Amino acid sequence: MTSLNRPADPGLLSINTATVRQRWGLAEIIDGCARHEIRGISPWRDQVKALGLKEAAQAIRANELVVTGYCRGGMFPVSSEADAPAVRDDNRRAVDEACELGAQCLVLVVGGLPGGSKNLDDARRQVRDGIAELLDYAGSQKMPLAIEPLHPMYAADRACVNTMAHANDLCDELGSGLGIALDLYHTWWDPDLMEQIERAGKERLLAFHICDWLVPTRDLLLDRGMMGDGVIDIRKWRHAVERVGYVGFHEVEIFSSETWWKKDPNEVLATCKARHIECC
Ligand code: ZN
Repeated sequence: MTSLNRPADPGLLSINTATVRQRWGLAEIIDGCARHEIRGISPWRDQVKALGLKEAAQAIRANELVVTGYCRGGMFPVSSEADAPAVRDDNRRAVDEACELGAQCLVLVVGGLPGGSKNLDDARRQVRDGIAELLDYAGSQKMPLAIEPLHPMYAADRACVNTMAHANDLCDELGSGLGIALDLYHTWWDPDLMEQIERAGKERLLAFHICDWLVPTRDLLLDRGMMGDGVIDIRKWRHAVERVGYVGFHEVEIFSSETWWKKDPNEVLATCKARHIECC
């Protein structure tokens, strides 16, 4: 087998809890990961809140899971200055929670246009300023921040950082403590992706998210595919991140209201394990 066909190390599989969140709470997901011998987990704030931060941290530690990211901070742009302190405080709490959970990074979904606005330049300026401010706090807590560029179809409502190049530019500008969560679902189409992975390098690549792009995609948010069911050459991109020195986890993040969210989560986790080896 040539090195380019070498399958992924099963020990590097991580489950983003969104993948099985419809039918399991966080306690069940932690337990499920342990039973399926999946070593990484990336929980969402609402699930942590529902279980309790201390309880979540304790359960994760007891099962020796690696928290490959905490979802999520961000949502920086606001329509009125008066709303900014609440966003800032909430993001600081997200940093604190990420620390308590021992997360490798806090993932930032940076936010899109604030309500009523058509000013994308201003939204992007607010994102830059918001990250700069949060970086001071996160740095003092030693929690790395990972910008997750989202597919351009989310520029209005979720994230106005849509390419690896833009995320790399922000890292250049804002400096240490800031990196990137590379999600192939959002970035696979980008003709500059290889070059931007090389530009990011080992230092900036803080997380690697995987799933697949289905053809056709029936829903903008909730129709992501299991690895192998779509058109992303996941193994090629895993080799690309490894070539620049990335040695972290491969985090499966599947929002799938009509397919995977309807299945028994045990079957979903077993499929993630099998497809990780087969396709990643
Ligand atoms: Zn992601």
